[in-house]
Amino acid sequence: MQALIFEQAGQIRVGEVADRAPGPGEAVLEMRAASVCASDLRVYRGEKYAAPGVVPGHEMAGVIVAVGEGVETVQPGSSAAVYPIISCGGCAFCRRGLRNRCSSRQTLGYDRNGGLAERVLLPAALVAQGHAVPLARGAGFERAALTEPTACVLNSLESCRFRAGASVAILGAGPMGLLHIVLARALGAGAIVVAEPVESRRAAAEAVGADAVVDGDPDTLRGAVAEATGGEGADVVIVSVGLNGLTETALSVAGRQSSVNLFAGFPPESSATIDVNALHYAEVSLTGTQNATPDQFRRTAALLPSLNGLEQIVSHRFALSEATQAYESRRDPAVLKTLVLPDDQLG
Ligand SMILES: [Zn+2]
Ligand SMILES: [Zn+2]
Repeated sequence: MQALIFEQAGQIRVGEVADRAPGPGEAVLEMRAASVCASDLRVYRGEKYAAPGVVPGHEMAGVIVAVGEGVETVQPGSSAAVYPIISCGGCAFCRRGLRNRCSSRQTLGYDRNGGLAERVLLPAALVAQGHAVPLARGAGFERAALTEPTACVLNSLESCRFRAGASVAILGAGPMGLLHIVLARALGAGAIVVAEPVESRRAAAEAVGADAVVDGDPDTLRGAVAEATGGEGADVVIVSVGLNGLTETALSVAGRQSSVNLFAGFPPESSATIDVNALHYAEVSLTGTQNATPDQFRRTAALLPSLNGLEQIVSHRFALSEATQAYESRRDPAVLKTLVLPDDQLG
């Protein structure tokens, strides 16, 4: 079958990959939509590990076309979004439901072949844990492919003790910053202020529901947050682009009892200088999040049909045979989330 192959940093290509029937406990998903994540781009740039030769892609939805002996959680013909983490089920994190933090976790698209392929062999452990999650009615495959990134955003907001009415400042309006706007809005956020240097991304931020959108200048952002929050500072501050200096900027717009989340990955060896007393006296939480729990993934799957603005986050679609373009095109900041679809779906 056809798939995108990650050879090594800086080298990806579309080629033939061996395909087989599912063994006991396994299932095969026919990919109908898969999206490319910023972390896939980081792997491509050599900033993050993935196994050489692996098929990338951890954001995917499709149809189960075959199941192996003993599979009970999914049936052939059913549509599913895939929670891409394979966990042991028995370690301290897994027992608390935090399978995304499993000490021996493996992830589709990094350690095992993922979604940028005609078909995906879902490992027995993933299937047994119910990580092929049935699609909610009306979700559609393109939306469903965004379940994983949206669940990561839910994890981000929940780690920030987000509640309805909370004011939110978001640094960076790339696809994940935009997803934060969409989800925070849907969950009842108060004022949402966004900082983004690229004009087309500022326009996208406004289109999906931000109240105030400013350029990347830290003073302008501080002014906008002060204005939106009556001088209090934001309740939730999200750093959704990993640039040096942004942690400091984020802390400078954080209010008392607020949370600042480093959602983005940063280049290796990045650091920040923080005024620790500012954190102490204002009781600010500084946190980081990565991926999501299976529970957050399921709740996101149920929420997807009702989320406004998701379509505006997908700017380009590519056929699987052109999947390298779904990576290369992302160099252009006007490009947002890129989807990869089966060749026959794009005609
Ligand atoms: Zn992702
Ligand atoms: Zn575990």
